[in-house]
Amino acid sequence: MFDKVLIANRGEIALRIQRACKELGISTVAVHSTADADAMHVRLADESVCIGPPPASESYLNIPRLLAACEITGADAVHPGYGFLSENARFAEILEEHNITFIGPTSEHIRIMGDKIEAKETAKKLGIPVVPGSDGAVTSETQAMKVAKEMGFPVLIKATAGGGGRGMKVAHSAQDLSVALSTARSEAKAAFGNDSVYIEKYLTKPRHIEIQVLGDGQGNAIHLGERDCSLQRRHQKVWEEAPSPALNAAARAKIGETVASAMRKLKYRGAGTVEFLFEDGEFYFIEMNTRLQVEHPVTEAITGIDLVLEQLRVASGATLTLRQEDVTFSGHAIECRINAENARTFRPSPGRITYWHPPGGLGVRVDSGVYQGYSIPPYYDSLIGKLIVHGKNRNECLMRLKRTLSEFVIDGIETTIPLFNELIRQPDIANGLYDIHWLEKFLGKP
Ligand code: ADP
Repeated sequence: MFDKVLIANRGEIALRIQRACKELGISTVAVHSTADADAMHVRLADESVCIGPPPASESYLNIPRLLAACEITGADAVHPGYGFLSENARFAEILEEHNITFIGPTSEHIRIMGDKIEAKETAKKLGIPVVPGSDGAVTSETQAMKVAKEMGFPVLIKATAGGGGRGMKVAHSAQDLSVALSTARSEAKAAFGNDSVYIEKYLTKPRHIEIQVLGDGQGNAIHLGERDCSLQRRHQKVWEEAPSPALNAAARAKIGETVASAMRKLKYRGAGTVEFLFEDGEFYFIEMNTRLQVEHPVTEAITGIDLVLEQLRVASGATLTLRQEDVTFSGHAIECRINAENARTFRPSPGRITYWHPPGGLGVRVDSGVYQGYSIPPYYDSLIGKLIVHGKNRNECLMRLKRTLSEFVIDGIETTIPLFNELIRQPDIANGLYDIHWLEKFLGKP
């Protein structure tokens, strides 16, 4: 096992990783920008290094500075968390060149899955069902029109390098195609420096269901069931739950085994998530994330498995000791993403937290990096915490969530808690009847 792990991240996820390290007796190194000198992840780490000014490009995304921090502190491994450099194949490669372990998959697997076209081709070859679409990138409007007409409208133009819902445009008819194509291209160019796009059939009422996997890079891999992340705004997840209200045990075991078997063939190492759209009983692969996900705690709640601990174990070269039959699912869990944003306009609301009272009680977990008196800097993502609630079944979980939300007090800034208070009262949510478009329709209501 490692002696010292540098955590190349901030906020709640940096704390989450520190917790797993500490329980394993591993020393932790926090890195931070000057804007984060007072952050909790810095206070609780064994050591910390300031790596630059507030902009992420000059701190959390700056590879030479992170390497220097590893050298100064003698860290033997780096956990990248999610976002920032977590899916940067070059970063993984550079660390390996310096004999520092990247806690994640091989740089080759990161690269394959980071290119959405290659990821889809790989998935298909490994026996995973994919969304119908163009064979590779579309290079001209004529080609795009041909593909779209063959598949039938609506279609979705997606960025090959996509992420965070950017570079994605729907064309409902042939008339829309040209504009959708050029907007997706320019958005992709601006966001990723790569304007390559491809086309997919646009599914009109799917659920987003993703499968959590764990592999050891030696050909052993298991799945930890699914998460339903259909409640989204602008293709960004807002509420996640496990198990999905739309799957039964047989469907879960079938898709889980399809994915686990693909990961065994790939010799995948670490934690990963294979994302699908699910419509009319069919699964369609959309992408794979080769890292820990924001919503991993709902899987931890229903399986009792510490995903970060497993990441650390397999990254250190251990074989996976968990077998598929060791994984059992108990009860139901829901996660609400608490953002420092207005709950209706979603305008960011950075500033000082004057009062902070998180909820408690049986089955309640709050993962957060903030505290009373903390000032949320305006430079980063607005996620300030995650509320995860676990119950014996979905109904108990929903009742507990309602109770928990009423206890949560955050003053000084605006948060998304009022949105969850509204959602919890909607019959469709209570009945688990929602698809990926439900939330935007709901928000569109006056
Ligand atoms: P990103 O990497 O930008 O997050 P994804 O491919 O994971 O992009 O897709 C994000 C979300 O966009 C999905 O959860 C879903 O809501 C929507 N989406 C993606 N592909 C399709 C599709 N073919 N049809 C309908 N919605 C889609």
